[in-house]
Amino acid sequence: MLLVSNWKMNLSHAEALTLADGIGNLNSKFPIVICPSFVHIPDVYNKLKGKANLIPGAQDCSANGFGAHTGEVSAKMLAELGCKYVIVGHAEKRKACNESYEIINQKTINALNNQITPIICVGERKKAPIKVTTQQIIDDLKAFPNLAECIIAYEPNWAIGSNITPNPQDVLQIICAIKQSYGEKMQVMYGGSVNEDNVKLFHNCDLSGFLLGGSSQKIETFKNLLNALGN
Ligand code: PEP
Repeated sequence: MLLVSNWKMNLSHAEALTLADGIGNLNSKFPIVICPSFVHIPDVYNKLKGKANLIPGAQDCSANGFGAHTGEVSAKMLAELGCKYVIVGHAEKRKACNESYEIINQKTINALNNQITPIICVGERKKAPIKVTTQQIIDDLKAFPNLAECIIAYEPNWAIGSNITPNPQDVLQIICAIKQSYGEKMQVMYGGSVNEDNVKLFHNCDLSGFLLGGSSQKIETFKNLLNALGN
């Protein structure tokens, strides 16, 4: 069970370091990928050194390899700092930058070329009948030829940061459809308002883990979530 802690554009530098220490002290039996803002990465990664089960991650990487791309951070730069996983195609980023799946695929290729495992986010924008949503997810994933080397995060956009929990049966159906289409060994996570109260609802969903936003950004709520998982 892999947990991915996405800190988004929250936390001052001092808060990021405190959170890294706090998560280290939770002694999680589950591996946790920590994804801070780029500027916090070097100091936060230093804090993770020697901490069992805490893995350096990032929230995004560039679709470009290097060169004149102001404001971007390449997969190679992240790899140099020790990054092992990178989130690509997160709904917030996709919307803000109008990212196409072609661009997101380029990001996965750059990550893989630098020995970083991409966590590809997919999910429907609006609630729709489950059959429609399932087909959309299967079609969207066609953009990624290297899927077997990646992790998929199913995140309905409407469930992110909204405190709305989808029906676990629907999540299970989507996970099963992904595995039937792309291979039983595919690693699929769920993300979207997961917290200490609803995390156990997903126990029958055949998930490889959870992508966590808000509930992993405060030590108390993260601790409660880990306890709910049996830590
Ligand atoms: C996310 O950042 O991908 C996410 C799922 O956020 P939250 O848990 O806050 O909904």
